Amino acid sequence: MQIQLINLKRQYESIKEEVDKEVLDVLSAGQYIMGKNVKEFEREVSEYIGTKHSVSVGNGTDALIIALKALGIGKGDEVITTPFTFFATAESISFVGATPVFVDVDINTFNIDPAKIEEKITDKTKAIMPVHIFGQPCDMDAINEIAKKHNLKVIEDACQAIGSEYKGKKAGSLSDIACFSFFPTKNLGCAGDGGMIVTNDYNLATVCRALRAHGSGADGQKAFNIINNIKEDAVEDNGTDNTVYNPLKYYNYLIGQNSRLDELQAAILRVKLRNLDIWNDARRKHARFYNEQLKDTNLAAPFEADNVKHVYHLYILQSDDRSKMVNYLKENGIATGVYYPIPLHLQKAYKDLGYKEGDLPNAEYLSHRTFAIPMFAELTDEEKEYIVDTIKKFGD
Ligand SMILES: *Cc1c(COP(=O)(O)O)cnc(C)c1O
Repeated sequence: MQIQLINLKRQYESIKEEVDKEVLDVLSAGQYIMGKNVKEFEREVSEYIGTKHSVSVGNGTDALIIALKALGIGKGDEVITTPFTFFATAESISFVGATPVFVDVDINTFNIDPAKIEEKITDKTKAIMPVHIFGQPCDMDAINEIAKKHNLKVIEDACQAIGSEYKGKKAGSLSDIACFSFFPTKNLGCAGDGGMIVTNDYNLATVCRALRAHGSGADGQKAFNIINNIKEDAVEDNGTDNTVYNPLKYYNYLIGQNSRLDELQAAILRVKLRNLDIWNDARRKHARFYNEQLKDTNLAAPFEADNVKHVYHLYILQSDDRSKMVNYLKENGIATGVYYPIPLHLQKAYKDLGYKEGDLPNAEYLSHRTFAIPMFAELTDEEKEYIVDTIKKFGD
């Protein structure tokens, strides 16, 4: 048997009819940028997450960059984050000219350890960027409390955690501003790149909306007025129909970028969002099965904190002899992945920050031990049985 880490074709097959129809409708309608699907999808995400505003963008990395820029974070500023994450988390901080300051993770949850944050706060610190790694929300009460005490902003990198919950509230609604990615392998993935920023703050949302499209048009003007404290009403433009000449599009108020979710991706994501809870529940069911079946092996299973709903973007095991285990599974047709082999403070790209091995021991320890086994909603019972049986036979 051959089992992939994630099988995207199977998910598509399960919703093919609906997706194909929506995609063809977009192609026929002839409006490919900022059309009705984008608008509706933003509204639906706000409703789903429980935040007032959603601003769709081109990908998760841009979501983080635009959120940081909207908060006014840039050169000379420091942002506290985790070293045990995908590179884009810290990269976005560096991209806006700020410096990522890495704080070690909790050995159980793999998330940033709030107890170690305060010692890293300086007078340059502007924000904390926690990452809900592998689909498990961080200890947000503790993080928000520290942020409040030191007058810092909190930006959730929720790229791996759409649908997860902390104390009954959805990831993305737990901070000042939050970012999602719709990269195909994420729990809610499109057929290409996509991302979303969510917030309850109208001003932040407006600046993000302006920044994603060259700081132009009515959004640009509103954002300019907000940033410069000008109390005048912005002119309304004639909607978003880009088949019609819109002069306001050529009035630029901020230096932004071009990072929009396109109409085709939004149409696909709307169909998928309706299935997200079902898919996340299936992932949780598979995780329970793995936990139960593997509890007598010498592999450490993922830990789920009491007050969270983990959505298992990845199902992570730990082994003392990872490379042997990973090779053995490969020989038996089972795909694995190593997340993450190098913690960010030790990446070559961050050599100039001057970290050395031993600085963040938990992240380093995990980077030598963790690996993911197949996890996606459509895994069959037969596949799951085969996976756990194969793992149990390791070393026989
Ligand atoms: C995927 C991911 C991103 C970046 O998202 P893209 O859409 O690939 O740009 C950022 N942070 C984390 C934790 C991610 O998993």
